[in-house]
Amino acid sequence: METDHRFPGCDGLITNQSNVTLGIYVADCGAVYIVDPVRRAIGLVHSGKKGTEQGVAGQAIELMRERFGSVASDLVVQLGPCIRPPHYEIDFAAQILRQCRALGVKEVHDAGTCTACEPARYYSYRAEKGRTGRMLALLAMTSEAPRREQLLYQTALTEPQQRYSSRSPACR
Ligand SMILES: [Zn+2]
Repeated sequence: METDHRFPGCDGLITNQSNVTLGIYVADCGAVYIVDPVRRAIGLVHSGKKGTEQGVAGQAIELMRERFGSVASDLVVQLGPCIRPPHYEIDFAAQILRQCRALGVKEVHDAGTCTACEPARYYSYRAEKGRTGRMLALLAMTSEAPRREQLLYQTALTEPQQRYSSRSPACR
């Protein structure tokens, strides 16, 4: 696949192709990165309030099972920065983590970062009242199979020390 494709109006993308970069735009919504190092497949999902209610992260995991034979307990899931309480009344980040664990994902990581808490670093649709940019979440698989240790290391790099808590110290 050499050309760029746009898929407007969809919540997520999955592939088992190497060297295909998945990308989604997010501002306050969570980007959910899903990696299957065993079957070699990836998924990238946009899960905000509505998408989380609909369980889109879980739907992507289910689709990866159907299409690629992915087993939930093999998956590594990483949730990116998104808006969280007390800046937002709904704790959809916690719901996303619960949804993934409920399906049997053991390795669920969370950036633990609230986009509205760090306006200098992240765009926040809500904090900036809609007049803001978007962040681009990207995920790709190289043709060389990553060793599991490398994969965990990369995940650790994207994960700040702080695990998710419903009240981030930076939030007032
Ligand atoms: Zn906040």
